[in-house]
Amino acid sequence: MIRVAIVGSGPSGLFSAAELLKRRRDVAVDVFDRLPTPFGLVRYGVAPDHLRIKSVSAALAKVFDDPRAQFYGNVELGVDIRLAALREAYDIVILAVGAARSRALGVPGEELAGSFSASDIVPWYNGHPYARDPRLANAESVAIVGAGNVTLDLARMLLKAGSVLAGTDIPDAVGKALDGTGVRTVHIVIRRGPADVKFSLSELMELETLDDTDLILKNADPDDGDTLNDKRSDLFRKWDRSATGHAGRRVVFHFWRSPGRLLGRDRVEGIRLRDTDGDPAGRHQQEDLEVQMVIGSIGYYTESPDESIPFDDELGRVLHVGGRVANGLYVVGWSKRGPSGVIGTNKACAIQTVSCVLDDLGGRRESVVDPARRADLVAARLGHEDARRRAITWQGWNRIDQAEVELGAAYGRERTKITDPDLMIEIGTQSN
Ligand code: NAP
Repeated sequence: MIRVAIVGSGPSGLFSAAELLKRRRDVAVDVFDRLPTPFGLVRYGVAPDHLRIKSVSAALAKVFDDPRAQFYGNVELGVDIRLAALREAYDIVILAVGAARSRALGVPGEELAGSFSASDIVPWYNGHPYARDPRLANAESVAIVGAGNVTLDLARMLLKAGSVLAGTDIPDAVGKALDGTGVRTVHIVIRRGPADVKFSLSELMELETLDDTDLILKNADPDDGDTLNDKRSDLFRKWDRSATGHAGRRVVFHFWRSPGRLLGRDRVEGIRLRDTDGDPAGRHQQEDLEVQMVIGSIGYYTESPDESIPFDDELGRVLHVGGRVANGLYVVGWSKRGPSGVIGTNKACAIQTVSCVLDDLGGRRESVVDPARRADLVAARLGHEDARRRAITWQGWNRIDQAEVELGAAYGRERTKITDPDLMIEIGTQSN
């Protein structure tokens, strides 16, 4: 058996595992994840009300029906296992570590309380075990910087009542926080014009499902036919005509603006916007918005998984050729190509990396690593003396899964996520 380790159990990692198992009979795959749970971005990144996309996890889980695939959660690369040890224990190592960190805005005031990034808020509303409560009740107006789909997820979630999300798996505390939120206005700060936004049409249309919410455009003429020629512009035109100005809540799109600084002494009290469209007199116009919370949502980056790996610090991704990083070492997903595309994009990405792996393996049928190394590595994780550092197997995850379903039933819902990492680990390691 050729022994493969995949680090990361999000879509790219599990698509890769499935592809490998499908294409070669003589391959066994161990999938590691730093969290006690599988599914990465699907579980903790996709918005809770995107139930159809969330349901991809059921398809991803099928890979573990194959006895050649094993899951080891609660095992962090660089903390619990070193990359060098992994490479000695496996013929092939595939990094599928994602891009968990938001890019910083890089403006003064970003360190103030009330300043967040998408990678703080998205995991929180998704019940991530290590996320902190952003205390929404303190904010009436919020500015989100960036014109991508994550911004629209954030805007929608901040303006949706928790009770509307009853069909989702959000933790009870998140539902209560969203019910008790004071957020009435979400300002979206966009550095270019309406023709250049990265919002997709379907995500824009979802804003129309928000109750009692005006959708307002600033600094853009939606009838500017030179630049607006797709369906998104029809939507912008419609919104521009139909905003009542009297709704209880509003989403305001500020085109041609970027943040100059966050304002406030101890915590965020406002955001200063600069005109990015220039102006003939050469004076950059400024505008201050009163907000109590700012969220930077301008894309993500990967942190270098190991100092031995060739890495592009600027772009925040692993350097590779067609997925190959070094002899026996590969990369897939957002850590390979950057934070772009939808979940399905990772399938093609996984096929490319796996094809590269199989090309390199060629006719090789047998492992060239000492099987005792892999056995020792796995045994050390499963039987760790510190119970909180023990690995969680697929059976262990199934117990957590079941506990979440039972917790959901207590609230009259299909499932409610458990957020306490110690509790997850306790449930997940019960019969190691
Ligand atoms: P994104 O689509 O890359 O959007 C990032 C936005 O930030 C862009 O509008 C970009 O503007 C702006 N930006 C970058 N640097 C900036 C700066 N220094 N100042 C101001 N603005 C800046 O990223 P994302 O929203 O994080 O989404 C990541 C990926 O996940 C995307 O592929 C997205 O489509 C996908 N996603 C999909 C869904 C869905 O399908 N439902 C939901 C969520 C996310 P420029 O264009 O001017 O660079």
